[in-house]
Amino acid sequence: MRLLRRSSQVFSALGALIYSPAAKSVRVLSTGSAFITTARTPLVLANDHSCKNTQFRAMSDEQAKAQTATPEEDTIFDKIVRGDIPCKEVYSDDRVLAFHDVNPTAPVHIIVIPKNRDGLSQLSKAREDQKDLLGHLMYVAQQVGAKECPGGFRVVINDGKDGAQSVYHLHLHVIGGRPMKWPPG
Ligand code: AMP
Repeated sequence: MRLLRRSSQVFSALGALIYSPAAKSVRVLSTGSAFITTARTPLVLANDHSCKNTQFRAMSDEQAKAQTATPEEDTIFDKIVRGDIPCKEVYSDDRVLAFHDVNPTAPVHIIVIPKNRDGLSQLSKAREDQKDLLGHLMYVAQQVGAKECPGGFRVVINDGKDGAQSVYHLHLHVIGGRPMKWPPG
């Protein structure tokens, strides 16, 4: 796609992106649709795999955080496990803690984490000796999901920058309470 920048207007093959500094907004004008979003919301150009359906969509806060998030010595989830910051707990045992997500994406959005991170900053760092813990995390996720979302639920693990991971402490999202869409973004 050829983009031509001219002062506050950006034209594309799809239509025009018009930035208004006063309104702090970006207006996307295209042949089929238009939407307004704040300029502080990063915009990403999304392609489907065929590259035929190119469209602009707003990047969520979590996606934006995931662009810069890196593994940390002490994560927000470590602080929750220690009780340094509060959480709305839904399940706890000697290895696993589950609590409500502070920024839910659905009526039910629960985070399931290992209490002892032990190098499990993300799923792709899992060691063979952690298979049992991984199974237990999945089991707790289904227990919580079945209880909170009798109509069904989704379990998501984001991994790394491209996987939109923002907290580098392995966690499963249990999401439900409404019909889920597919495919995910
Ligand atoms: P991810 O983007 O997969 O790394 O997901 C991290 C999740 O942690 C996001 O859904 C956040 O809303 C959630 N989160 C961040 N801080 C807290 C917190 N203090 N309590 C509960 N959930 C949190």
